[in-house]
Amino acid sequence: MKFGKPSRKINTFYPPQRTLMGPGPSEIHPRVFSAMGRPTIGYLDPVFVEMMDQLKELLRYAFQTKNSMTFPVSGPGSAGMEMCFVNMVKPGDKVIVCKNGVFGGRMLENIERCGGIPIVVEDQWGAPVDTDKVEKAFKQNQNVKVLAFVHAETSTGVASDAKTLAKIADQYSAYTIMDAVTSLAGIPVLVDEWGIDACYSGSQKCLSCTPGLSPITFSDKLMEDLKKDKQRKSQSWFLDLDLLSGYWGDNTRTYHHTAPTNSLYSLHEALLMLQEEGLENSWFRHRRNHQALKAGLEELGLKFLVEESFRLPQMNAVTVMPNIDEKEVRKRLLEEYNIEIGAGLGSLSGKIWRFGIMGYSCKMENVMLALCALETVFSDMGADTEVGLAEAAAYKAYASHPANRKIEAVA
Ligand SMILES: *Cc1c(COP(=O)(O)O)cnc(C)c1O
Repeated sequence: MKFGKPSRKINTFYPPQRTLMGPGPSEIHPRVFSAMGRPTIGYLDPVFVEMMDQLKELLRYAFQTKNSMTFPVSGPGSAGMEMCFVNMVKPGDKVIVCKNGVFGGRMLENIERCGGIPIVVEDQWGAPVDTDKVEKAFKQNQNVKVLAFVHAETSTGVASDAKTLAKIADQYSAYTIMDAVTSLAGIPVLVDEWGIDACYSGSQKCLSCTPGLSPITFSDKLMEDLKKDKQRKSQSWFLDLDLLSGYWGDNTRTYHHTAPTNSLYSLHEALLMLQEEGLENSWFRHRRNHQALKAGLEELGLKFLVEESFRLPQMNAVTVMPNIDEKEVRKRLLEEYNIEIGAGLGSLSGKIWRFGIMGYSCKMENVMLALCALETVFSDMGADTEVGLAEAAAYKAYASHPANRKIEAVA
């Protein structure tokens, strides 16, 4: 028989326990894992429906919004991105898109596939979006429908000024689409205060939940406008906001697709943990661990790609020093210390390392372990590194930023 027994014996898959310090997924708290193993029930079971309502409420807290249409899309962050574009951009619509890294580039591809007319505002990788250029693009182009930008560009570790960008869009009566995949819960994301119309995130970054869900929120005003637009029918059936409102809306629970029940349990638990910790405390924790990691990395002679005031605490990109095998370092960190860190993408491939400290990965033990591992690996590979100095520098930073004292979070 052609499709008989496999030629090798396949056993249960047990992945190794890794320290995850890359661009996501981040580590997951045992509470979140255990929630995922609870009984699967029907997606219209009244008990499940009650959980959905709580999930929406918890997400509104995370996004700092009152938006009614705030829910998790069944799919990774990329699905949330696509959902915004397929519902808001029709053929011929003008969209200003800010491109300063990989994910801005993906937004551009979405616009093109929707038949929109992209107006690209380009900035260097590692620099934030230049708000003056965006303003200029609005002045030079009439009737721009949407401004799309990435709040936290994971490929470079840079934060852009979302508040100012949203204000500019508002002055020109354009909607905003904001990528908050890496920013949500790591730095302030204030959807209502900033006046963001559509914002999506991902479950596996600073929310520290299992991958595969995309929290999303649409302003009430945008929802009304979309309803009025009778001509609109999204090119995507699966991501059609109208159809999904039937399942995730306020008063209706009509079958659209089978909700990923167990993944939603884990998101519920992860968001509950965020609420228990408090958003501000979560921002502060990311900042504090960043200060220590930064002190250690700098002690090792590594330079940050991004200028200090625009750095994301949760994503630290440093340039690879000359005369060292970039890939070998990552390989040894993984093999000898079980640590995953990120490599450079696109034009930064081979040029940077990216240290993510997101969500549950953002803790002192990870920072210290990573610094110790780097020192020994560098030393072994012949670099002039004295083992112990980076941890000492990190420890000093921790001591000067006590856990109970707030420091300014990047807005
Ligand atoms: C990770 C990431 C995405 C994509 O999320 P997936 O869950 O991998 O689809 C989009 N935007 C940014 C800024 C990201 O960091």
